Amino acid sequence: MKRVAILGSTGSIGRSALAVVRAHPEEFQVVAVAANSNVRELLQQVYDFRPKYAAVFGHEAHKAARDIMPRGVKLLPPGVEGLTEMAALGEADVVLNAVSGSVGFAPLIASIRASKHIALANKEPMVMAGETIMREVWRWKATLLPVDSEPSAIFQCLEGLKTKDYASVISRVFLTASGGPFYKTKGSLAAVRPEQALRHPRWKMGPKITVDSATLMNKGLEAIEIKNFFSLPLKTIEVLIHPQSIVHSAVELRDGSVLAQMSLPDMKLPIQYALTWPDRLKCPVKPLNLCEISKLDFFKPDFRRFECLALAFEAAKKGGLYPAVLNAANEVAVERFLAGAIPFTSIPKVVEGALSAGKWRPSPHPPNFSEVIEADEWARARAAEIAGGRRGGKIKR
Ligand code: NDP
Ligand code: MG
Repeated sequence: MKRVAILGSTGSIGRSALAVVRAHPEEFQVVAVAANSNVRELLQQVYDFRPKYAAVFGHEAHKAARDIMPRGVKLLPPGVEGLTEMAALGEADVVLNAVSGSVGFAPLIASIRASKHIALANKEPMVMAGETIMREVWRWKATLLPVDSEPSAIFQCLEGLKTKDYASVISRVFLTASGGPFYKTKGSLAAVRPEQALRHPRWKMGPKITVDSATLMNKGLEAIEIKNFFSLPLKTIEVLIHPQSIVHSAVELRDGSVLAQMSLPDMKLPIQYALTWPDRLKCPVKPLNLCEISKLDFFKPDFRRFECLALAFEAAKKGGLYPAVLNAANEVAVERFLAGAIPFTSIPKVVEGALSAGKWRPSPHPPNFSEVIEADEWARARAAEIAGGRRGGKIKR
C-alpha cells in the first residue's frame, strides 16, 4: 500500500489523481491533501479519503477550514509553511506536487531534501531552476518522476535504454502540442476573451495552464522542463503541433529509430505511472483504438505568431536566470489577462518587457535557489509594472 500526499488535490490533476486512487483502493492510501482556497471540495475529499493531514494555503480559507475539519485530521499551518511540511511528510511514500505555478517551488525542494518519491505535475519550478533541482535530486537520492504528459512520454520512451547519458543517444525529441484553441485562427488575437482562451479543444485543465496552452507558452515551458529533466541540449527539442493529442511526445535515437508514447489524452495515465513506477497497473482510461483515429497530423508551429513560444526558447538559450524571469512574468501576465486587465496579445509583451529589462548574466553554472527567488520576485514586480502601463493604465491593444 503506497501512502500518497497530494498538494493541489482540488485541482484538475489532483482530482484525476484521486480518481486513480479510487480505482486502486488496495494499492494507494491518501495521507494528505492540500488546496489554496477551495475548502468545500477539500472537506469532501477528507470525508471520502480519510487522510491524516490537510493543508489550506489561503489565510482566510484556513480559518474557515479550522472550524469544520473533522477530528483526527491534522490541519497544517496556512501559507507555504503547511505545504512544505506536507511535502516532506514522513508518513508519505509518494508526494504528488500538483499545485499551479511557482508556489510549488519551496514544497518541491522540501520533498527533494526529504529524499521523497516525487510525482511532479507542477512544471514551473523545473523551468525556474531545473538544472539546480536535478543536482539536488541526485544529492539527496530523491526520485523525481514527471507527470506532465510530454515529459512522461519521453521518460517512458527512454526507460529501456542502458545509458542515463541521454544526450549521447538522442538525436531529436519531438515535443507535441495540441496547438490550443487558436492555432488555426486567422487574423489578430487581440480581441480574444478569457472565456475563449479557457476553451481548450483536448484537455480539461486549470486556468493558468489552459491560457499557457492557448499562447503556446506551455510548450515553451515544457521544452525547458524537458531540457532540464533529461539534461538535453535545447537544439534537440523540436515542437510539433499534433491536434489529435495521441502521440504525447517521441524521441529519435542516434540510429534513426523513433520511439513514441501514445494513448488517448487523459492525464490519469501519466499520473498513475508516476505513482506506480516502475510497476504498471490497469488504468481507468479508455484503450486507444488506432483504426478509429486512423489519422495523425503533425505541423510545425508558427513561432512568429505565437511569440510566447519564441520567447521561451530564447530564454532557454540564454539560460541562467532568464527562464525564471520568463516564468514569473508569464504568471503575472496570465493572471492579469484572466482578470480582464490586459488583452491576450499583451501576454508576450509583458514577458518580453521583463526579459529585456534585466541584464541577467549568462552564467556557466546553474543559478542557486536564492538567486532564482530573487529573479522571480524582481520579474513579478517588473511585469506588474508593465502590465499596469507606465502611468498605471492598461496596455493598449
Ligand atoms: P488547477 O488550477 O486545476 O489546480 C491547482 C491546484 O493547486 C488546486 O488544488 C489549487 O487549490 C491548488 N493551489 C493553487 N495555488 C495554491 C497555493 N498557493 N497553495 C496551495 N494550493 C494551491 O491546476 P492544474 O491541476 O491544471 O495544474 C497543476 C499543475 O500541473 C500546474 O503546474 C500545471 O502546469 C501542471 N499540469 C497540469 C496538467 C493538466 O492536465 N491539468 C497537465 C500537465 C501539467 P484551489 O482549488 O483551492 O484553488
Ligand atoms: Mg503537458
